[in-house]
Amino acid sequence: MAKILIPTPLRPYTDKQDAVDATGATVGELLADLTKRHAGLKAHLYNEQGKLRSFVNVYVNDEDIRYLQKEQTPVGTSDTVSIIPSVAGGVGEEKGYGPFSTAAVAEKGAYTLSSLPELTNDEIKRYSRHLIMPEVGVEGQRKLKAAKVLCIGAGGLGSPAAMYLAAAGVGTLGLVDFDVVDFSNLQRQILHGTPDVGRSKLASARDRLNALNPNVTIESHEIALSSQNALELFEPYDVILDGTDNFPTRYLVNDACVLLGKPNAYGSIFRFEGQASVFATKGGPCYRCLYPEPPPPGLVPSCAEGGVLGVLPGIIGVIQATEALKLIMNVGEPLIGRFLIFDALRMKFRELKLRKEPDCPVCGTHATIKQLIDYEQFCGITPAAPEPVAVNKATEITSVELKQRLDRGDALRIVDVREPNEYQINRIPGSVLIPLGDVPKRQNELDPNDEIVVHCKMGTRSAKAADFLRSVGFKRVLNLKGGILDWVEKVDPSQPKY
Ligand code: ZN
Repeated sequence: MAKILIPTPLRPYTDKQDAVDATGATVGELLADLTKRHAGLKAHLYNEQGKLRSFVNVYVNDEDIRYLQKEQTPVGTSDTVSIIPSVAGGVGEEKGYGPFSTAAVAEKGAYTLSSLPELTNDEIKRYSRHLIMPEVGVEGQRKLKAAKVLCIGAGGLGSPAAMYLAAAGVGTLGLVDFDVVDFSNLQRQILHGTPDVGRSKLASARDRLNALNPNVTIESHEIALSSQNALELFEPYDVILDGTDNFPTRYLVNDACVLLGKPNAYGSIFRFEGQASVFATKGGPCYRCLYPEPPPPGLVPSCAEGGVLGVLPGIIGVIQATEALKLIMNVGEPLIGRFLIFDALRMKFRELKLRKEPDCPVCGTHATIKQLIDYEQFCGITPAAPEPVAVNKATEITSVELKQRLDRGDALRIVDVREPNEYQINRIPGSVLIPLGDVPKRQNELDPNDEIVVHCKMGTRSAKAADFLRSVGFKRVLNLKGGILDWVEKVDPSQPKY
């Protein structure tokens, strides 16, 4: 028996357990035994060819076994095996990955004390708790004043990161976002307050940061980051802080950082679990070294679908800010080649070793990616209705059609595949609750000859449930397009949205 640690996104498939035992002498045997005990895990860990998926990394104790004999790696009974999937949510030629740290500041020649900006008397007073520490001192504070940090996203991670960077005296803070503050943001996005709901996030962020520290220059970039604008946008900055919430932008940020040689203070969050690292420094690994490819769309739920504990982005965002400050001042040991994992429920930090992958397509020795690509396509997200209408018609139903059919008295079985806590918030009358992870073992509660409508919050989980039910012989399964959010919006606005 060895212990296998199960990450949050996969816990629905292990009866919510965060650690399970499995038997096997090698990692391969152990995972085979694990998927025998918890069949729902199989599709997440292995592809159709039976190969371990590339966005799933397996560690034995703190070693990434991809570089060893992989599935043949022996495991003992006292070993702990961790499964680390990517969660959502940066060579030009020999220009390379660039020096990290202070690098960018140093290259500009700002490292000679004389060329660093002087501190005003007000600033000396404001930063006095920094100045009395030898690791920071006047020189460190002047480096911070000279530095430019770009936060990608003014949301969960960007909020605490930007606030602490501003408070600490980083001279120029760039923010990229084009969203508007929503009520559901306030649970964690502390840059914004209740009166800001409906305002642009950047306008709200600017007010908050200016109030916090008027010495900081805020540069607002109210645009959608894209392959067309990323390089130009990143160029003037010393450190990029990745606070994105989706895979296409994450790969875009990573690749742009590698191409420009800018360090990427990375963070990501999901439910109770967070990850942090520093990517794209000279000689250090990048995000693609860790996860060469994104998961197929829909396999890993987003925070909007999976939820996130409000304080979690606070913890991870502040770690990102800490790394940015260390890089700028060139102090301490940055999280380079170290992958930090935080579990809020267990209140545990774990650190895994991360190596630079020689075959990495963007930072490896024979990198094939020398310019930014189409990241939506790379992540398998194809814009607008590529499926033939006939297929859609047979597999999907809109909330308005569903309402009409229910009013007509059609015998439809409505199956809600969300979690019980979501069912408590809102529901379609007459629906039965079978959470996605329970569908395989509770399928006998449904009649394969009935016409079944499955739904979740937005339609992603229920699409998986529909696929599964069809695969085991259910003849008529319809997925509710847009999920219950669409139902509430178009059919029953009296119910709350979440
Ligand atoms: Zn790489």
